[in-house]
Amino acid sequence: MRLKIIAGNWKMNKTNPEALELVRGLISSVGHVDNPRVVLCPPFTALSEVARLLKGHSYFLGAQNMYSKESGAFTGEIAPAMLLTIGVSYVILGHSERREYFSESDGIVNEKVKLAIKTGLIPIVCIGEKLEEREQGKTEEVVGRQLDGSLANLSEEEFRKVVIAYEPVWAIGTGRTATPEMAQEVHRFIRERLEKRYSELARQVSILYGGSVTGENAHGLLSMPDIDGALVGGASLKIDQFTKIIKSA
Ligand code: PEP
Repeated sequence: MRLKIIAGNWKMNKTNPEALELVRGLISSVGHVDNPRVVLCPPFTALSEVARLLKGHSYFLGAQNMYSKESGAFTGEIAPAMLLTIGVSYVILGHSERREYFSESDGIVNEKVKLAIKTGLIPIVCIGEKLEEREQGKTEEVVGRQLDGSLANLSEEEFRKVVIAYEPVWAIGTGRTATPEMAQEVHRFIRERLEKRYSELARQVSILYGGSVTGENAHGLLSMPDIDGALVGGASLKIDQFTKIIKSA
């Protein structure tokens, strides 16, 4: 049985008062939920306050990024221990916006993934092709390369800790979502590629879909055999939408 996960990536949205209002609303709308596991990923500035509010509740906390070193002279960066000590369990790594606007390569993502696992955070590793790559028939080539690069040199023990998110870039924040069949095809490809390296273990890894998931399309996507949850951007900021997505899972 694979763990079902619904993660909300708030991106650069919500001041602290707004964040608390959203979390309070979610708690009263969703209530207690163990399955799926719900992971909230507010901006860094809201993590501590949201962590306090989530005490005693079933939700997990995630960060949207971290640095690839444990401490030191890296002005403006955030180390994994800073996240762990305030109650963060997950960290989104290699999101397409990080890759695109902050030049994060597979090599950088790989360093972060290794450090996250070493320090005890669960990485949600994002991969996905751009529109022109899909149109050129390069989806598997691109996704395969990102997968291999981001997870390079992970031992079986390390790989057990990983969560993957397939997020076609053309579907992120655009309202254009992959059909369940399109998403399933890539999820199966990812799992089969992982099976070649990690055999049995690949069947235990949760692979989330991300890209304009809403309360309306979640059920179809989440019914697919290799889709184990969702990484949700825009709709995770709307209580009614996020609630519906959680209930669909
Ligand atoms: C995301 O940010 O990971 C994402 C999938 O965004 P959206 O749901 O808004 O497309």
